[in-house]
Amino acid sequence: MKRIVIIGGGFAGVKCARVLTKQLRGSAEVVLFSRDNHMVFQPLLPDVAGSSLNPRAVAPPLRLMLPRVHCRTETVLAIDTAANEVVHEGHDGAPRRMRYDHLVIACGNVVNLNGLPGMADHALPLKTIGDAIAMRAHVMQKLEKADLAETAEQRAFYLTFIVVGGGFSGVEVAGELNDLVRHSLPHYRNVRPEDVMVTLLHSQAEILPELSPGLRRFAQARMANRGIKLLCEVKAAEVTRRGVQLSNGRKVEGATVICTVGTAPNPLVAALDAPKERGRLATDPDMRVPGHANVWAVGDCAVVPNAFDGKTGPPTAQFAEREGCQCAQNIARMLRNEPTQAFRHKSFGMACGIGGRRGVAELFGLRFSGFPAWWLWRSGFLWKVPTVAQKLKVGIDWAWELVFPRDLSHFRPAQSDPVGKARFAAGEVLFRHGETLTTLYAIAGGEAEVVQQCPHSGAWQVLSTIGSGSVIGEATIAGHMNDSVQVRARTPLDAWLLGKESLSRLSQALAPIEAIVQRAVSRPRTGIWQSHPAAMRALMARSVAEMPAGTLPIAAATTDTIGELYARLVRERQVGVVVCENGRVIGVATRTDMLDALAHGAHGDSPIGEHCRREPMCMQSGEPAALAAERMADQGFKFLPVVDADGRLTGLLTVDDIVAFALSVARDAPIEATTCEVAAAAAEVAAPAH
Ligand SMILES: Cc1cc2nc3c(=O)[nH]c(=O)nc-3n(C[C@H](O)[C@H](O)[C@H](O)COP(=O)(O)OP(=O)(O)OC[C@H]3O[C@@H](n4cnc5c(N)ncnc54)[C@H](O)[C@@H]3O)c2cc1C
Repeated sequence: MKRIVIIGGGFAGVKCARVLTKQLRGSAEVVLFSRDNHMVFQPLLPDVAGSSLNPRAVAPPLRLMLPRVHCRTETVLAIDTAANEVVHEGHDGAPRRMRYDHLVIACGNVVNLNGLPGMADHALPLKTIGDAIAMRAHVMQKLEKADLAETAEQRAFYLTFIVVGGGFSGVEVAGELNDLVRHSLPHYRNVRPEDVMVTLLHSQAEILPELSPGLRRFAQARMANRGIKLLCEVKAAEVTRRGVQLSNGRKVEGATVICTVGTAPNPLVAALDAPKERGRLATDPDMRVPGHANVWAVGDCAVVPNAFDGKTGPPTAQFAEREGCQCAQNIARMLRNEPTQAFRHKSFGMACGIGGRRGVAELFGLRFSGFPAWWLWRSGFLWKVPTVAQKLKVGIDWAWELVFPRDLSHFRPAQSDPVGKARFAAGEVLFRHGETLTTLYAIAGGEAEVVQQCPHSGAWQVLSTIGSGSVIGEATIAGHMNDSVQVRARTPLDAWLLGKESLSRLSQALAPIEAIVQRAVSRPRTGIWQSHPAAMRALMARSVAEMPAGTLPIAAATTDTIGELYARLVRERQVGVVVCENGRVIGVATRTDMLDALAHGAHGDSPIGEHCRREPMCMQSGEPAALAAERMADQGFKFLPVVDADGRLTGLLTVDDIVAFALSVARDAPIEATTCEVAAAAAEVAAPAH
C-alpha cells in the first residue's frame, strides 16, 4: 500500500489529511506527524491571551478530527529526499526512519525573537497555546502587582503593555489585552483606568496595511478611543526589562512587551536543498517542490504561486487550508495517473477584531466595520473551527463573556526559581542598596558598575566596574554604607539570571561550581582603593589622559599572525597587542594568550583575530585613573586600551604607568598621601597582574 506522510498538524496539514482520506477511501495509508497531539487554531490565540476563550477550545485533538489518519505525536528531525524517508524522534528519543511514497511538508514557520537585542529575553511571543496561557498569566500578575504598588510611577510601569507589530495579530492582541485589563479594573481597588496604557508600535504610517485606507483609519480611531496608544513609523531597537528603546532615541517604559513580528523558517525547511524565497519553499504551480516529483509543500512554510491572480498566496490560515485541500487532490490525481492542477484560489477577504466587540472586515468585496464586522469575524472563525464539539465550546465561551466578567485567575508556571537571560540598556539599574535579590546576575556580555551619588553635588561616582564572567549578588555592594549605592549597566549588558535555589541545588551536585560562585558573590566589590583613601583621591583627581603614558600600543589587524606579533612583543618588550577592525578596538592579546592559543591548536600563521580576547574592557581618556587601576587589580589585567567615544584606539595604559604615577604622588605628597599608603595601593595593583 502506498504511504503519504504529512509533516504538520496545522491548517494546511489537517486539511490535506482530511481531503486525502476522503478521496483515497483507504487505498493508501495517510500518516500525519505533529509535535503536539492537537491542532492550534492560531487566529484565536489573542482571545485565549485576553481570557475570552478557554485554551482547550482552540486546541482540537488531532485523533478526534482525523479518525482514519495515523496521527503520530513525534517531531520530524530531517527529510532524506534521496532515500524517500523522514527521520523522526521515536518514543524513547532515538531517531527512526519512515519511508514515504509522497511527502507533504506543512510544518509552518517558527518564532524568531533574535532580530533585536533583548527581544528573546524580555518579549512574550504568541504562537502556541503555551504562549497564550503564559501571556494571560503575565498580564494578570502585572495587574496584581499594580494593585499593590506603592507609588504612581510603579503602578504606571506595571500597567503599561507594549505590543510590537501593527499587523493582524498585533492589533488583535492589543485589542484583547486592552479589554481584559480594563474589564478587570473594577476588581482592583487601587488601579484606575487612567493608569492603564496599551501601546501598539508599528513601523509603517498606518496599521493593518492589507486593508483599505478607510477601514485602517476606522480601526485606528476606534482603538485610540478605547485608550490604545498607537505609535506609527517607529521601530523597536532594543528590549530590556524596563521596556522598549525605539530607533528614534525615545523609550517606552513598561513591564510587558509582546512581540507579534519575527518569524524564521522551520529548521526542517532551512535544511532542505530546494529553491526558497525568504526562507520559504518556492513551489511549482501544483505545489510540488522543484526537482522532487513526490515532495509537496503547503501553508506558511511554502510560497505557492496562485493561478487566479499570478501572485503568491499570503501566509494566512485561509490560504494554508486551500493549499492543503488542493495538494491532497493533486496527490490523489497522481495516484490515479491523472495530471495535476495548478493552485487557484480567489481570496474571500480578511477580517480583524480590534477590541471592544468591534472589528474591520473586507469580505467578498464588501467592507464592514464596527459591531457587524466583529460579529462576521467571530462567526467566520466559529464556522472554521473543525469539530462540532469544538464549535460548541468556542460559542459557549464567547456567549459567556458577553454576560459574565472575564476570568481573573491566573496560574503561575511551575518555574518558581528560574534560570533566564536579561538585557539591560546602558544606565539601567540592576539593583539598589537595601534591596533583597532573589536571583544572581552572571554577566554574559558588557559591563556593570557600582556607583554612589555624592550628597553635595548630586554627581554619580563610579566605585568599581564589573566585567564579563563575573557574578553579581547582594554581597557586591555589601561593603558600602551609603544608601544611594546601586549597581547599574555601564554598557549594554547581557546577564544570566540564576535563581538562588536552582544555583544551590546545582552547586550541591557540582562542587567546583559552588566554590566559584561562592568566591564571586561573597567578595565585596569595594575596590582596593577603599582601603587607601589618599591614593584613591590622588587617582580620582587624575583622568586617564593625565597619566604618564610610558608605552605605545601595538595595534594589530585581525589578519596579523600570532607568530609575527609574538616576535614583535618580545623584540619591543611590550605587554600585549590591541586588535582593531575598521579602526575600532575589538580584542586584546597578551603573550600568555598567544601561548595558550598555540597550546590549543593554533599555529604561528593563525590570524590573531580568531584567538584574541574579544570585547575587551577599555578606558576613555576622560575617565578617572582610579577606575583603570581598580579594573586592573580586580581583573588581573596588565594593560587597558584607551579609546575615544567611537571606540577607536588612542593609547594604552599599563600597570607600570599606574605604579609610576602612584609612586610619584607618594614622593611629592601633593594631596596628603603618605608614602606607605600609596606604595601599598600601587603594589596591590601590580600584584595580580599576569
Ligand atoms: C497570533 C496569530 C494570529 C493570527 N491571525 C490570523 C487571522 O486572523 N487570519 C488568518 O488567516 N491567519 C492568521 N494567522 C496566521 C495563521 O494562523 C497561519 O497562517 C496558519 O496557522 C498557517 O498554517 P500552517 O498549517 O501552514 O502552519 P501551522 O498552523 O503553524 O502548523 C504547523 C504544524 O507543524 C507542526 N510541526 C512543525 N515542525 C514540526 C516538526 N519538525 N515535526 C513535527 N511537526 C512539526 C506544528 O506542531 C504544527 O502542528 C495568525 C497567526 C498567529 C500566530
